This record gives sequence, structure tokens and C-alpha cells, in this order.
Amino acid sequence: MRVPIVAGNWKMYKTVAEARHLVSELVPGLQAIAGVEKVICPPFTDLLAVRALLEGTNIQLGAQNMHWEPSGAYTGEISPLMLAELVRYVIIGHSERRTYFGETDQTVNRKLQSALLHGLLPILCVGETLEENESNRTREVIERQLRDGLARLDLNDPTTLVIAYEPVWAIGTGRAATGELANSVVADIIRPVLEELFGAPFAQGVRVLYGGSVKASIAAEFFSQPEIDGALVGGASLKAEEFIGITQAAAA
Ligand code: PEP
Repeated sequence: MRVPIVAGNWKMYKTVAEARHLVSELVPGLQAIAGVEKVICPPFTDLLAVRALLEGTNIQLGAQNMHWEPSGAYTGEISPLMLAELVRYVIIGHSERRTYFGETDQTVNRKLQSALLHGLLPILCVGETLEENESNRTREVIERQLRDGLARLDLNDPTTLVIAYEPVWAIGTGRAATGELANSVVADIIRPVLEELFGAPFAQGVRVLYGGSVKASIAAEFFSQPEIDGALVGGASLKAEEFIGITQAAAA
């Protein structure tokens, strides 16, 4: 049984005061939902404040990125050692990091190795751009992101990694994939590659989320798919009612 996850990626939104307000709106609704792992991933500057507010709740905290070194002369970066004190999850290889900050499958791989070493639970994002999709390269791109991103990792416990399939053309565009399409990418590309790399029990046990313009009104379409185990939510995670609605749909 794969326990569903709904994770909110707040991106570069919310000051500490705004974060406190949003969390106070989220906690009562999310707390009441059973059978789903609930994760919020605020900006680094909000983590301490949000962590304090989540103490004693069943809502988990995640970060949106990290450096791979535990410490060092890397001005402006945040290390896995620092995060391990604060969060359980960390998003790795989000398409906005790949597009705007030069992340490659190789840096993603270093981050994944390091996150696992420091006891963090990585949410690895993969997905094709519009151009790649239109030139029928979805399979090639996702296979490469998985093979290179997960290279040299020795994984056998499927609860140590989460994958998010996030077609880049669906992120922040209001143009979500269909549930059927997302399910087929997970069933025909993602799980088979994971099986080849780490064996069938791992591939069948690992949680794979869909991300890209998920809203409460369409969430059920994804969660009713057999291969999709939840969602990584961007824009809609900034609105309490929406995020709670999506999480309710995952529990239903
Ligand atoms: C994301 O940031 O991972 C995401 C899926 O964004 P949105 O839900 O806004 O498309």
C-alpha cells in the first residue's frame, strides 16, 4: 500500500508573517484529514517559524532545494546538515531550478546522494518541456532524468524517495495534464525505469506524484488513477481552501 502524499511548494512566496497566517488557516483543515501525508515546503526563511507552528500536528515540513555539501564556502547556499534539523522532505530538481538556476541531472544526482546520506526524504521532480513533448521526446527526457539523476544510488527501501512527474508545460500555466496521460507516463516510463534500476518491489512501492496546475476542482481526476500517489502543488498550495480541498480529494 502506497500512502498518498500531497505536498505544497510555496515557491518564492510568503514572508514570515504571511507564512504564519497561511499555516494558521491550513492546520485545522489538514489535521482532520487522515490517510494522506501532508507536506508543506515554504521558503528557507519561513522554515523555523512554520516548524514551530507545525509542532504536535500531523503535517510535515519540507524545503524546496539544497546544496549537496554539508558545509563550505558556498555563499547563499543551504546545506543538507542545516535542513536535517528542520525538515523531513526536500524537493530536488524542480523544473524552475533546472530552467533558471542551471541545475543539471548531474547536480540533481549529487543533491539526491547527499539528501539521502543526511536522512532527508527527497522529492525528485522530472518532466518534459512543451517543446520536448511536441517533438515526442517525453520518454527520452524522463528516462534520462531518472537514469542520470539516480545514477550510483543504491536504493531498496521505496519509502526513502518520492518522485514527482511534473510536465513543465503544465507548471503554473493553468493547463494541467489529464489524469490518464499522467498515469500513462508513470506506468509506462517512470515505474519501468525504476524497476530496471532498483527492482520490482522498489518500483511498485515508491510514491509517484503528479504536479502541474493541480486545483481542488480537478484533483480527483489524478487521484483516481492507479499509478498516481498524490500531488506536488504549486500555486494552489498558497490558498488554504484549495490546498485543503486537494488533500481531501487525495483521502477520498
Ligand atoms: C510546482 O511548483 O511544482 C507546481 C506544480 O506548480 P503549479 O501547481 O502552480 O503548476
